Amino acid sequence: MNNIHWLGHASFKLTGEKIIYIDPYEISETEKADIILITHTHHDHLSMDDIEKIRKLDTVIFAPEDARGKLSDFKSVKPYQFFNVGKIKIETVPAYNLDKEFHPEEKNWVGYVIEFDKQRIYHAGDTDLIPEMSELKDIDVALLPIGGTYTMDVTEALQAVNIIAPKIAIPMHYGKLSGTRMDAEKFKQLASCKVELLQNE
Ligand code: ZN
Ligand code: ZN
Repeated sequence: MNNIHWLGHASFKLTGEKIIYIDPYEISETEKADIILITHTHHDHLSMDDIEKIRKLDTVIFAPEDARGKLSDFKSVKPYQFFNVGKIKIETVPAYNLDKEFHPEEKNWVGYVIEFDKQRIYHAGDTDLIPEMSELKDIDVALLPIGGTYTMDVTEALQAVNIIAPKIAIPMHYGKLSGTRMDAEKFKQLASCKVELLQNE
């Protein structure tokens, strides 16, 4: 996974022909972004301090409509949209809670599928195990929350792996607000696909 860097929590940097960040939060990274993808407006996903660290004049930012007010210049997204930035394809997918109140479906918050360097990478956002996950096709790498409380826990993320059938799964959304490294180890042990536990960079 030398082109996927975990920056802790739900934050990732994808490196290749373009530099893409997803949900930068409490990052030490300062390499400038070509694209920033924001899944939703909770403080641990939409962090203006972090966006300012990596934004340049022509950075393209994607975020749900309720980011307006915090973010001024961005592409407003909701689930089931498709975008092209150069050769990179970006698709938005639903992300919401079923039995928790934190991420209501009506907010139209998102996860992303990014087609990048011949890989399809799915960042689930803050979500439960929702039926729409069965619509995901040909996912090479799935970035899945496992921390519980606000998102799927390990048991649900294991079921998500069975449904999505990615080549590789990478657990996220643990170690800061909920979930531990032990949860990630358990996920790796029990998952029906290869699991990479990335070091927080
Ligand atoms: Zn959230
Ligand atoms: Zn979160």
